[in-house]
Amino acid sequence: MSLAENYQQIQARIEAACKRVGRDPGTVLLLPVSKGQPARAVEEAAGLGLRVFGENKVQEARVKIGQCPGRLQWHMIGHLQSNKARDAVQIFSMIESIDSLELAAEVNKWAHKFGKRVPILLEVNCAAEATKYGFAPEAVPGAVEQINKLPRLELHGLMTIAPYTLTPEKVRPYFTKLRELKEKGGELLGAPLPHLSMGMSGDFEVAIEEGATIVRIGTALFGARKPVAAALAEK
Ligand SMILES: *Cc1c(COP(=O)(O)O)cnc(C)c1O
Repeated sequence: MSLAENYQQIQARIEAACKRVGRDPGTVLLLPVSKGQPARAVEEAAGLGLRVFGENKVQEARVKIGQCPGRLQWHMIGHLQSNKARDAVQIFSMIESIDSLELAAEVNKWAHKFGKRVPILLEVNCAAEATKYGFAPEAVPGAVEQINKLPRLELHGLMTIAPYTLTPEKVRPYFTKLRELKEKGGELLGAPLPHLSMGMSGDFEVAIEEGATIVRIGTALFGARKPVAAALAEK
């Protein structure tokens, strides 16, 4: 199937999921995840009207962004090492993967140096998986309050990566949990947090039913990923 056909199908599935729970499809951002894809694929997606893309590595993103039209925006969705915070602040319009207070402080520091404000999401390790980054659910309220004190960070909400499953219904409780944590965070701050980034190719419909406002979709849109070097060499 072509990218355009995949995009149409995904849009139809987003609309159907919204309809099931009475949501406006305009409240769900489809974030195409372009890691492992060449710049050519990004340009093709941009031609379909997609404007904001997700990448999970600073180095790959930096090269690819240089190969792509300048009007596009980019979200960081992968684990960010502190020594890459400077680059990340320069190239991303949102960092969805703030997974520690130390990283938040580092991003705040560079944002200050560059005279910027950086939209962020806190990553939550909802299923307490040893292989995943993110705040433990019980640490989220405290982290929200701490991060709210950092003047250069704009906290827009929460992000999670659900455990891998072939049965999306099984991960619904994690999405429900993230929504509850977002609501609690909004109460603590006295203003609602707008974003819930949750749901990927295998589970985005359940995530939308539970309130996702950003769904991060790679393979269902672009097909299989390539090794990074191959994707970047192809352009
Ligand atoms: C790769 C990735 C995705 C997209 O995964 P697919 O299953 O290909 O849709 C979403 N979120 C994060 C954080 C990722 O690293």
